[in-house]
Amino acid sequence: MLAKEHRLTKKVYRTLIADLPKNELEKALKQVQQVLKPTSKKPLQLTTKVKIKPIKEQEEILWILAENCRLVYNFALAERKKWWDRSQHLPKKKRDKENKPTYNKQSKQLPKLKEKYPRYQQNYSKTLQYALRQLEADYRSFYALRNNGDKEAQPPGFKGKKYFTTMHYNQKGFKIEGRSITFTHFYPVKDAEKVVLSFEMQGKLTFTDKKVKQVTIYQVHKTKEFYLSIIYEPSTQEYQDNGIYQAIDLGVMNIVAAVNSHEGKTIIIKNKRVDKYWQPKIEEVQKKRDYCKKYSNRWHWYNNKLSKMNVKQANQRKDFQHKISKKIVENAKANTIIIGDLNVKVMSKSLKGDKKNDKSLHRNMQSSGSLGRFARFLTYKAEKRGKIVIRLSERGTSKNCCYCMNKENRLLSERTISCDCGLVIKRDASGAVNILQRFFTLLALSQKRLVVRQRLLKDFREKFFTTHSQTSNESSSKKGVGWTRKKSKVNVNSLRVR
Ligand SMILES: [Zn+2]
Repeated sequence: MLAKEHRLTKKVYRTLIADLPKNELEKALKQVQQVLKPTSKKPLQLTTKVKIKPIKEQEEILWILAENCRLVYNFALAERKKWWDRSQHLPKKKRDKENKPTYNKQSKQLPKLKEKYPRYQQNYSKTLQYALRQLEADYRSFYALRNNGDKEAQPPGFKGKKYFTTMHYNQKGFKIEGRSITFTHFYPVKDAEKVVLSFEMQGKLTFTDKKVKQVTIYQVHKTKEFYLSIIYEPSTQEYQDNGIYQAIDLGVMNIVAAVNSHEGKTIIIKNKRVDKYWQPKIEEVQKKRDYCKKYSNRWHWYNNKLSKMNVKQANQRKDFQHKISKKIVENAKANTIIIGDLNVKVMSKSLKGDKKNDKSLHRNMQSSGSLGRFARFLTYKAEKRGKIVIRLSERGTSKNCCYCMNKENRLLSERTISCDCGLVIKRDASGAVNILQRFFTLLALSQKRLVVRQRLLKDFREKFFTTHSQTSNESSSKKGVGWTRKKSKVNVNSLRVR
């Protein structure tokens, strides 16, 4: 009996690793290394937005300062374009590299520019520098797109006068006191009646008493409202492996199926279907809109309503994800949380290339995108509390029975696995168990002294399958795991390994 469980444990090792292609295995091993020797990462940075309500005089000044940033951006862009016009026909080696405009060269010209045109002295100097840096970043993303074979990629264009140019205050140039934020500016340069750019920040503030790295002022063109985007470093705790692990299978139906290593407990959380409430309402308005003459007043009215509804729906979904991820990170005793890597999920589906299923694939990608955000929420919330989130490829984890590792091609609609070995388990729970087992296997692999880590898998299996073997069929259907007597080929007592 002991030998049987031993054999199965070996099979788990073999199967879960064999399912990984070489590149995924390497990636996974690297992820697991974090547990063994936590490296001090660069500090966590979070972004939040708050609304400000400038009075008329302040708004005028904001526009003047933003206009200066816009001009600097456009001049620098013109310089770059000129150089390109001169050199694009020449072979690469013959181009005038020395005079090629770069961020460094252009930002060195700023003091001269200020001397010549005093209007630029009104700005806090970093805001102008940042306009140049923005240009550099825009170019870089253009090159990246083009090098990736995107032929439609366009170089950055001139900024129009109609739009408020976003202004960045990096590190300095602003002061935060409670709810109030004040920006440095020198407008008008000599005047006793200087308008102070002080604003009351609206809504919930998450960054007070924290290290604020950057503040960005921008305007939403449609509503003409002003916002600040604030990047700050939250206080974090240091990670320490406490020997408790939790694996989570993320999904569309059940947003979370989790299992922990120390009790063998599973938790399943259903996704909140906000679309069930919104979709019929949205469709109704859409229908009414489409009856109207396109771009007529009524059409715009309905269209506006429609976009508001979509925003509300998206906000509710986001809100739900925030709540759940917070709850999970706070309640988990584990300091190490392992989640299935979603990229693999999308890829393996799209590789099948079934064109008939394009629509459902699209939907899948969409929901994976939203799950990707959920994974990001989990990651940063964990990091704040001294926990880490490890991403492992989830390839094959939903196909294998987590007890005996038998692989069966199951339909996606089959939400419960009823394996020949007797195990009955919710499919997502089995997925989570397999992710955890894969993690233990990788941990053992990346360890010099295999024995210590190998126990983890053994102990977990013992705990998990014996706890659930004691539950009767009725209660097990609630818990999502159990054993059937009819099919049972194994004596569950054989699992009690000493
Ligand atoms: Zn089985």
